[in-house]
Amino acid sequence: MAHLLIAEDDELLRDGLRTIFTQAGHEVSTCVDGALAWAAIQTEAFDAVVLDLGLPHLDGFQVLARLRQRWPTLPVLILTARDGVEDRVAGLNAGADDYLTKPFNLDELLARVQAMLRRANLPAHANPSLPVAQSALRIDTDMPRAWIGQTAIDLTQREWELLRLLWTHLGQVVSREAVLAAWQTPDGDNAPLASNALEVYVHRLRRKLGDAPLNIRNVRGLGYLLETMPPHG
Ligand code: CA
Repeated sequence: MAHLLIAEDDELLRDGLRTIFTQAGHEVSTCVDGALAWAAIQTEAFDAVVLDLGLPHLDGFQVLARLRQRWPTLPVLILTARDGVEDRVAGLNAGADDYLTKPFNLDELLARVQAMLRRANLPAHANPSLPVAQSALRIDTDMPRAWIGQTAIDLTQREWELLRLLWTHLGQVVSREAVLAAWQTPDGDNAPLASNALEVYVHRLRRKLGDAPLNIRNVRGLGYLLETMPPHG
């Protein structure tokens, strides 16, 4: 269980977020504007923050800037408008760990926040009680970088997108279509893909994961699933 702050001025969305995180077993505080969010952050201890960028009084950028000065590692996921590509980039540059563009799927948000919470417990903030498999992989959510233990793995943009998608859905099937959609980013490489391209990327990624206790399983007809494996021995 984690203590989450949700800062969102849209009442319907705020209620939806509160419900899904509460049902997932988290403790949730909500705020309707940026000034209240900043006040809450200073007075309560949160494990993660879901922050709408378009907030009254203080906007999400201002809250994020203040927060980062004092809490450099507190996980923050920002919510941006559909056409807010520049906002998304500015938010990531300002120190957000992840983002979702409205409208989004609540289950996806839940999965991303859970992944963010898992990563927060990974090295360098190692939690020795975490299973080896979950502490084996660390992914930069901003740049195409990832590490197995302390060793950086060399990833292309597409390999990283694929790995990030699988990792944020650890234990769940990710469909072919979801991977192809993730690759079709407005600022990404939209060159046409060969029909077997995804299989080729999965094959490469399996090799790059090497001895990490993680396996990418092909779920026939559905897609791919990243699963953890018991340590050798
Ligand atoms: Ca808003």
